[in-house]
Amino acid sequence: MTEGPRRLAVIGAGPAGLAACLAAAEHGVRVTLIDAAPSVGGQFYRRPASGLGARRPHVLHHHRRAWQRLGRGLAAHLEAGTVEQLTDHHVWTVERTGTTGAARPEFTVHALVGPLQERSVAVRADAVLLATGGYEKVLPFPGWTLPGVVTAGGAQAMLKGGLVVPGRRVVVAGSGPLLLPVATGLAAAGAEVAALVESLDPGRLLRGAGALAAEPGKIAEGVSYAARLLRHRVPFVPRHTVVEAHGEERLEAVTVAALGPEGRVRPGTGRRITCDALAVGHGMVPHTDLAEALGCRADATKVHVDDEQRTDVPAVWAAGETTGIGGVVLSLAEGHLAGRSVAARLRGLEPDPRPAARAVRIRARARSFAAALDAVYAPPAHWVEQVTDETVVCRCEEVTAGRVREAVTGLGAGDVRTVKLLTRAGMGWCQGRMCEPAVAGLAGCEQTPARRLLARPVPLGVLAEAGSEDDRSPGTGAIDRPPETGAADRPPETGAAGRTRGAGTADRTPGTGAADPTREADTAP
Ligand SMILES: Cc1cc2nc3c(=O)[nH]c(=O)nc-3n(C[C@H](O)[C@H](O)[C@H](O)COP(=O)(O)OP(=O)(O)OC[C@H]3O[C@@H](n4cnc5c(N)ncnc54)[C@H](O)[C@@H]3O)c2cc1C
Repeated sequence: MTEGPRRLAVIGAGPAGLAACLAAAEHGVRVTLIDAAPSVGGQFYRRPASGLGARRPHVLHHHRRAWQRLGRGLAAHLEAGTVEQLTDHHVWTVERTGTTGAARPEFTVHALVGPLQERSVAVRADAVLLATGGYEKVLPFPGWTLPGVVTAGGAQAMLKGGLVVPGRRVVVAGSGPLLLPVATGLAAAGAEVAALVESLDPGRLLRGAGALAAEPGKIAEGVSYAARLLRHRVPFVPRHTVVEAHGEERLEAVTVAALGPEGRVRPGTGRRITCDALAVGHGMVPHTDLAEALGCRADATKVHVDDEQRTDVPAVWAAGETTGIGGVVLSLAEGHLAGRSVAARLRGLEPDPRPAARAVRIRARARSFAAALDAVYAPPAHWVEQVTDETVVCRCEEVTAGRVREAVTGLGAGDVRTVKLLTRAGMGWCQGRMCEPAVAGLAGCEQTPARRLLARPVPLGVLAEAGSEDDRSPGTGAIDRPPETGAADRPPETGAAGRTRGAGTADRTPGTGAADPTREADTAP
């Protein structure tokens, strides 16, 4: 009996998902590439919305040549019909629908469609690859909910996706490498960056120099950011933290203060900086919701994978920042290895190690670099002391730090779940994605995987229909549009609730090598 080509659902079309999609498709797998965003590219390859008519969109584009290669590869596969692209599709859960213990497992991926998200479609697949990236961690401080305070990544997204800056005079603050492209990007776009406030002690960078030096390209990137900060006269303020944001109707100023060696604010060092926007971030957290719902093992807050990027759930792979925060090069390498592994394993074979050897080396180096960075960058150890009882911690449910503290000291809560039950912190729209690190810090407990049943709120009507025959028609009613293959700078996009599907047949497999991270040499910024 001949069986049709195996089907892979890739969830997330950022660097990891794109690399995985292309590697799998090039080896004969039929891929459905699904993303919640209106176009592919994820966080790193975010581009201005086409309706904005940006005249020089490449100015804001990182690693453009790598992006162009990915785009060409994807366009060729869409054309050949080996890849189907579903943008504006937000996956809310993945179900294992095949018979338990069957040799060929089957999954149903459920996604809410379009901006209104009132309708769900289902995609069936023999394997699933989770490439859902990460999201930002923001720790609260008095005034952080004022209009004018945005996350660092949010400021970056406004700039790269919407061509707007969050204010005229901006302070960029927090901790982590993301602050550098944010500060330099805002300055280049014409905002006055009043200060880049980083809680890191640069001496720690020197202490981790050995591991960091193993990635000379990253050091060069760091030097180039330093040069750009100098060129734009952005004052760099290390070993400092924002202790308060001030304003009546909206942000008017922030107070920053020096940190002592223990990570405590030094009394009397506060200074006020006038600004109308604050872009603040304290690092990133892997997106693990779908993996948790599928029962995949997690290590701390990241999805556990083996050398082939397989999770411990059969036929489920994970790649990119969902397996740990590590940057775009690591995401591309992991995606590529995952895609190759899927293609081999779905045919019952071991993946050939030889063509993947370089990607394996890139992954190893990038992981060591990420671990070294992780060890040096951290929010101030005693940030909790700056959070007053009146400070709102959970914005969705308007829960203050005082109520969290009371739940711990007065009512005996010893973990985040109990705090949630006693205060409603984390029960709102974002389901704790924003406030969980803060609640854990205030409660004095570890942040553990959240174990959310659904990856996002779902209308009851959709839940009731899930599993019915009507539900099983991927892309029903979505806009069919031919892929835009002409402009190398504009890989295929779709409109709202977009579905891009090639017209060809599955046996045409364009061997573009587009996602091969061993070709990353020409991706320097
Ligand atoms: C806001 C932000 C700004 C950043 N800016 C920079 C920068 O300027 N420079 C830099 O070097 N690095 C930056 N990074 C880090 C960089 O983006 C990552 O290293 C890289 O993009 C990770 O690739 P990825 O494929 O793992 O995930 P991502 O690029 O995050 O892609 C994940 C994709 O999954 C999709 N997704 C998630 N959940 C679902 C779901 N349930 N259903 C459907 N789709 C889903 C998302 O829409 C997204 O497109 C930024 C990160 C963030 C979060």
